[in-house]
Amino acid sequence: MKLDFGYGHPMRGNRYDKALDEFREMGLLDDLTIEKPRLISEDVIRLYHTPEYIQRVKEVSETGESVFGEEVPQIKGIYDIILLSVSASITAADYIVGEGLFDVAVNICGGWHHAFENKCRGFCIFNDVAITANYLMKRKNIDKVMVIDYDAHHGDGTQRAFYRNPWVYTISFHQDPSTLYPFRSGYEDEIGEGEGKGFNRNYPLSPLCDDDEFISKFNEIPELIEEFKPEVLILQMGVDGSRQCSISSMRLTKKAYDYVSGLFMRLQKKHGFKTLALGGGGFVHPMLGQHWGVQLQNFIDK
Ligand SMILES: [Zn+2]
Repeated sequence: MKLDFGYGHPMRGNRYDKALDEFREMGLLDDLTIEKPRLISEDVIRLYHTPEYIQRVKEVSETGESVFGEEVPQIKGIYDIILLSVSASITAADYIVGEGLFDVAVNICGGWHHAFENKCRGFCIFNDVAITANYLMKRKNIDKVMVIDYDAHHGDGTQRAFYRNPWVYTISFHQDPSTLYPFRSGYEDEIGEGEGKGFNRNYPLSPLCDDDEFISKFNEIPELIEEFKPEVLILQMGVDGSRQCSISSMRLTKKAYDYVSGLFMRLQKKHGFKTLALGGGGFVHPMLGQHWGVQLQNFIDK
């Protein structure tokens, strides 16, 4: 994977290979079906992003020169690389709905939750979470999608995408945003607007949040799922709230991620929705693969 933002940047190209090494170590690869992404075309990206912004990404990708945005360096060829990443999320979505082969599908190279429709932000260029939710609604006749994001950072791009939309319920658990990027959003009083009012929730967590606090904040999830009845649950499973990851100050261990992924699988069994799990933050090895791996184990065991 050439998704590498350069020396000194947390987003390094070997991140996914190292996670796969851990999956292998944990014996998970024998129980997973690994599929190649089918390359999407630009019209799928347009399900969320503006044509002008897509064009700008293409230009930057060709020249590698323009100033690109917050915390995303310019990289030659980035358009094709990120297109492949979004393609993997769309392919995963196809496997749980249209073709219906699986109850759970995962794209660890996804979860780009900070990108806006017209702007790259926080390492994120195209927001595959928003694109895929729109793809499910507009191309696959899915009526209701719930997005649960538990990356250490607020899923602000995803919140923005569906803030006035009652059919995509967006929920984000993250470190108190007054202490961490993106700073300007992720507070409890952001509950959606217009028709979307009541379909957005934020759970800010204390900067030193431990497993017990994290787990207790998920108490309301069973009821929210029961009431909303999503057909598809999209997870943004960033693990940068780990105590080993210095990008946040949260102090989570594997136990927290094991608990929440197990909870989702119990709820899936009860309510019959499908789950699409996308990657997210986490920049320390072997922690990244281990903390994703414990979640994959629950997806396999369900
Ligand atoms: Zn993050």
